[in-house]
Amino acid sequence: MRKKIVAGNWKMNMTFEEGQTLTSEILNMMKDEHSGDAIAVLNPPFPHIFPVKKLIGEAKGVFIGAQNCSDKEAGAFTGEVSAKILASFGVQYVIIGHSERREYFKESNEMLATKVKLALANGLIPIFCCGESLEIRTAGTHEPNVKFQLTEGLFDLSTEDFAKIVIAYEPIWAIGTGKTATSEEAQEMHAALRRHVASKYGKDIAENTSILYGGSCNPKNAQELFGKPDVDGGLIGGASLKSRDFVDIIKSF
Ligand code: PEP
Repeated sequence: MRKKIVAGNWKMNMTFEEGQTLTSEILNMMKDEHSGDAIAVLNPPFPHIFPVKKLIGEAKGVFIGAQNCSDKEAGAFTGEVSAKILASFGVQYVIIGHSERREYFKESNEMLATKVKLALANGLIPIFCCGESLEIRTAGTHEPNVKFQLTEGLFDLSTEDFAKIVIAYEPIWAIGTGKTATSEEAQEMHAALRRHVASKYGKDIAENTSILYGGSCNPKNAQELFGKPDVDGGLIGGASLKSRDFVDIIKSF
């Protein structure tokens, strides 16, 4: 069964105190107001992971994720955090291939494919990001461009491993810009990506793959986006830093 997921990407924001307050507020609102089957995944900066996970405790439908992991298994890689270390702290999800990592840290498709494999080998669920630049969207080549990112990053996986993947389609021109893709544009790309998955792994696997939309998603546009048949949730940046907005997005299903 395809899961409905709303993942919050805190990026490089939140002090310890702010992160604790945000998490507590989200947990209280989820408990009091949320009865649907959509789950929340909180992806804070690394130092928050352990204390945020502790706060989450046994809360229903709330999970902890990381924003990145290393493409190396272990060893002398100062400043890096491996999938194995994350798993040992109880991390359940990891965002891989966010456009900011692809652009600012020059993460290649090949490197991302390695990260995905290491995440899976350590029992983490990768949230694999893909999406096109404004230039590519304007040129009209966004569909082959994003399909290629999936092929390169994921299509080396066995069917069993691919079945664990969550995909996040994030048009780069919509991230942090306040310019959301229309629900029709999102649906068109999500359906194209699902067909691409089906062409490699078959219809059943494709039907069961959660494909999230990311890019200026907020409480005002979430319901329309999540109402589309191939949009299974969201990867939320800015709005995930405000408990009210984040929980309202989850409640949009
Ligand atoms: C993101 O960075 O993944 C994102 C979708 O950001 P925002 O919601 O702020 O556009």
